[in-house]
Amino acid sequence: MAPSHESIVIVGAGIVGLNTALVLAERGFGKLITVVAEYLPGDTSATYTSPWAGCNFSAISGTDANALRWDRLGYAHLAKLASTSGGEAFVERTPSIEYWDEVVPHDKIEFMSGYLEDFKILASTSLPQGVSFGVSFTTFTLHAPKHCEYLYHRLETQYGVRFVRRRLPSIEAVFLDPESTKVVFNCTGLAARSLPGVEDSKCYPTRGQVVLVRAPQVNTNIMRHGKDYETYVIPRPRSKGHVVLGGFMQKGNGDASTYASDTASIMSRTKALSKEIAQAEPEILNVAAGLRPSREGGARVKRENVSVVGKGRTLVHNYGAGGTGFQAGYGMATDAVDCIEDILFEIGRGSRARL
Ligand SMILES: Cc1cc2nc3c(=O)[nH]c(=O)nc-3n(C[C@H](O)[C@H](O)[C@H](O)COP(=O)(O)OP(=O)(O)OC[C@H]3O[C@@H](n4cnc5c(N)ncnc54)[C@H](O)[C@@H]3O)c2cc1C
Repeated sequence: MAPSHESIVIVGAGIVGLNTALVLAERGFGKLITVVAEYLPGDTSATYTSPWAGCNFSAISGTDANALRWDRLGYAHLAKLASTSGGEAFVERTPSIEYWDEVVPHDKIEFMSGYLEDFKILASTSLPQGVSFGVSFTTFTLHAPKHCEYLYHRLETQYGVRFVRRRLPSIEAVFLDPESTKVVFNCTGLAARSLPGVEDSKCYPTRGQVVLVRAPQVNTNIMRHGKDYETYVIPRPRSKGHVVLGGFMQKGNGDASTYASDTASIMSRTKALSKEIAQAEPEILNVAAGLRPSREGGARVKRENVSVVGKGRTLVHNYGAGGTGFQAGYGMATDAVDCIEDILFEIGRGSRARL
């Protein structure tokens, strides 16, 4: 069967599916990919996490070897994007400060200090009350919904990736044509918990509420990691002074409603954290809640052999990014694509044979 758009199918058009398509397209497979998703960039839904992200690169991710590697690859990817096409990609270099009250992941910070631009440990005398450790570095901030739309457009126009809007009833149904679909990437985010054929009981939602404000005086990304709270101020690139204020990390909470009490808590914590926010009363533009696709043990990036109508096929899981899909998504995608090099070689050979 000659390679076609059905050869590689990616289910999911959140940041993880889009980055998976990007890594494959950069290796020359764009015209052999179909992305199938119920929600596409530009849509909003409680079951589509990506548009609700803050969104920045931070030290919030896990401390295991995978998380460290994915972050490093993600940081390098964002650095390149910001340098070459930051404007159209809605990615910007931004000065950043991160504080920890108690639990400081020192080993991870030491690893990250090897690649973060302008990394510094802050003098203990300069730390706010209650903070035990702080660092500054240059981070990347993203306009999450616009960045997803940028990737969608780039994948279609530059690389010839095909997008299809469809809700699939099971993972098996993702093999669009059992004859020609050689590999499927499962990038379904939180839906991996309930999608027939996957039903991963390790997946759970982590609720976050954010407040979008207008505060053009804000230039610095700032975060405070507390024992039971997470406070952050993230300026949004190319948004005429919009800033995302947060937030919450409510493990196991799948409630996508917003609450006035949460908004009040975010406003008072961010005013205390950021001198730039405290300078002038910010105008509230929107309040939203999103559900991070978390997973016990971290994201699942794993190849699996499956049988579809009697034929051996390959399924690559790539989900469970939790609160790090934008910073780690490119790294996760790199691992997901690397694990099917043998299949890509065969697909590539078939594709060249047609020419
Ligand atoms: C408040 C908040 C703040 C955040 N801040 C940051 C941040 O600063 N930095 C950062 O890196 N990350 C941040 N995140 C986390 C980030 O948003 C997620 O890690 C990321 O969006 C997960 O992307 P995903 O592609 O796995 O899932 P999703 O974006 O949910 O995409 C899943 C896709 O799968 C599709 N799908 C699912 N089931 C089916 C089916 N049966 N048939 C067809 N299609 C299906 C959906 O339609 C969708 O297209 C934040 C999240 C929240 C909620």
